[in-house]
Amino acid sequence: MEITAHTRALGLLGYPVTHSKSPEMLNEVCRILEIPAVYLAFQVEPSQLKEAVAGLRSLHFIGFNVTIPHKVAIIPYLDELDDTAQEIGAVNTVVNRNGKWIGYNTDGVGYLRSLQEEYELPLDQQTVTILGAGGAARAVSITLAKAGVKEIIIANRTLENANSLAKVVGNWTTTSTVSLTDAGQSINRSSLLINTTSIGMTPNVEGVPIPRAYLHKNLIVSDLVYRPRITSLLAAADKIGAKTHTGLGMLLHQAAVAVELWFGKKAPTGAMRAILEKEDSK
Ligand code: NAP
Repeated sequence: MEITAHTRALGLLGYPVTHSKSPEMLNEVCRILEIPAVYLAFQVEPSQLKEAVAGLRSLHFIGFNVTIPHKVAIIPYLDELDDTAQEIGAVNTVVNRNGKWIGYNTDGVGYLRSLQEEYELPLDQQTVTILGAGGAARAVSITLAKAGVKEIIIANRTLENANSLAKVVGNWTTTSTVSLTDAGQSINRSSLLINTTSIGMTPNVEGVPIPRAYLHKNLIVSDLVYRPRITSLLAAADKIGAKTHTGLGMLLHQAAVAVELWFGKKAPTGAMRAILEKEDSK
């Protein structure tokens, strides 16, 4: 699309950001939806975050995405948070609404949309074990709990972190915690297992967060790690006949929800997925 004096801007703030596929994906979205805007990735050091946000504000950006390590640190520089971002305590999408910066978190809803797109589950019948208790676990567990899953068990290396997340998630559903190494019984009675730890991510692709013997064939196994697309955990689940759900769908749908927030239009998810899958196969 032609860049003119009317072209506006969107971007990604992170550190590092050079691996991101968002610019390619979001510029294609702007082209398809005929939005006169460009999307760029900005490498912002933590000490420069405040100045960077002030710069985007004065340049009247349409909005921006926020990634590691700024998802929590961005909050003091915004004017408002929507309810979900407030509950999750982190922001990944910011929208400029008449000069006010509003923070959203699309990670949880992106995960849920992706899961339902692939498996149409009756949520009120799901017992879910979540491996990990960091930022992604927080977004996914709060969203699933609010959406009505029957029970959530949070299994984490540091039990203290699992306990503090469980206090919040327990506002909406039955919740308990266990250490990662003792998660066998919980997984045994679960229908959905979600890895939200970074174990298995490139370059340490051999890693699995739990012993393979904890898996069973009645599980749907989700892995938020999307590089590689088929992690060692998903390969092990597939091998014993369990269903699998890769992190690519969440990556796609969290961006699709951001597109809807910025432009008020349905995101062209087919084209977005094609870009992610093309990059994924490199
Ligand atoms: P985070 O806040 O740093 O949390 C990391 C979690 O992993 C913590 O619970 C941590 O346990 C656990 N962990 C890390 N290394 C471990 C190890 N060696 N052994 C056991 N547990 C370990 O990270 P995050 O932002 O939640 O991201 C987690 C993963 O999700 C990353 O791989 C990220 O790429 C992925 N993600 C994917 C999407 C997507 O769209 N597909 C979106 C967001 C995130 P402790 O509490 O014990 O430290």
